[in-house]
Amino acid sequence: MRIGIIVRDETMDACTGKSCLDAFYGRRDSFAEYGAEVELCAFTTHNGDLQRKIDKMKEAGITCIHLGKCMRNECPEYEELARRLAQDFDVVGYSHGPQEYPARPTIFLEKR
Ligand code: SF4
Repeated sequence: MRIGIIVRDETMDACTGKSCLDAFYGRRDSFAEYGAEVELCAFTTHNGDLQRKIDKMKEAGITCIHLGKCMRNECPEYEELARRLAQDFDVVGYSHGPQEYPARPTIFLEKR
């Protein structure tokens, strides 16, 4: 199984993605159920040419996208992006840290 992570573009001005990557490679938080065979094949932001990014991720065999904690906690486009991505992927609406976030429900969608 191959997955990708999409994070908030503005956050990447000051973040290296370390907590996302630590959680993935440590199989913690949103990645806790994954075995060693699961590959992280994309780490990108939500802006830019999203359709091209989606096409590239499909070509790479990615079937599930995790949205960064920063997308859920800070991005007004979180729900819209999750719905768009669910046209092509399963969507897990967070990456590292607790699954619950009081200010906004965490989204989980299966590919339509
Ligand atoms: S989810 Fe956390 S570690 Fe990942 S890009 Fe956003 S702020 Fe950085």
